[in-house]
Amino acid sequence: MPAEVITQATPGELFVHRNIANQAHPTDTNLNAALQYAVEALAVEDVVVCGHEGCGGVRAAMHEEAPPLVDTWVAGVRTIVRLHADELSRIPDLERRLTRLVELNVMEQVFNISRSPIVQSAWAAGRTLRVHGWVYGIGSGLLRDLGVTMDGAPLRAALGKVKAVARDDVARARRAG
Ligand SMILES: [Zn+2]
Repeated sequence: MPAEVITQATPGELFVHRNIANQAHPTDTNLNAALQYAVEALAVEDVVVCGHEGCGGVRAAMHEEAPPLVDTWVAGVRTIVRLHADELSRIPDLERRLTRLVELNVMEQVFNISRSPIVQSAWAAGRTLRVHGWVYGIGSGLLRDLGVTMDGAPLRAALGKVKAVARDDVARARRAG
């Protein structure tokens, strides 16, 4: 889906970088160049990591069934699966489990972007710059804000926020059975 369509932005309002499973590898020169251009030349104030439900790249990592190079690309997602194995295994429905992994993956990439020297120096210079985590629901057509926006406040506070969101989701999943 074109980013302008799902956000109802006007042409030129968004500067978009895409890759499989919305990965923000710290050593990805393509991503870093796009991020640097957006933050330093275009002076954007909002960076959005946007995943989507039913993501094939995230699904491949979950089921360990991807062509070798894709498999290498999504290695970080498999690490997220391992880190959150407990929570994920408590979600019996595979599509809901995938959606949760999509969310956890977005959160992880929000951290990666926030740790980037480009974002760190913008914050050190007192610039207004927010890094958001969103998930697009292909079926609903709705964008969900995961509530993990980082704005340069200490990482410990942000981590606490993510844990609180994760706890809410586990509670909701339990209630839903
Ligand atoms: Zn995808």
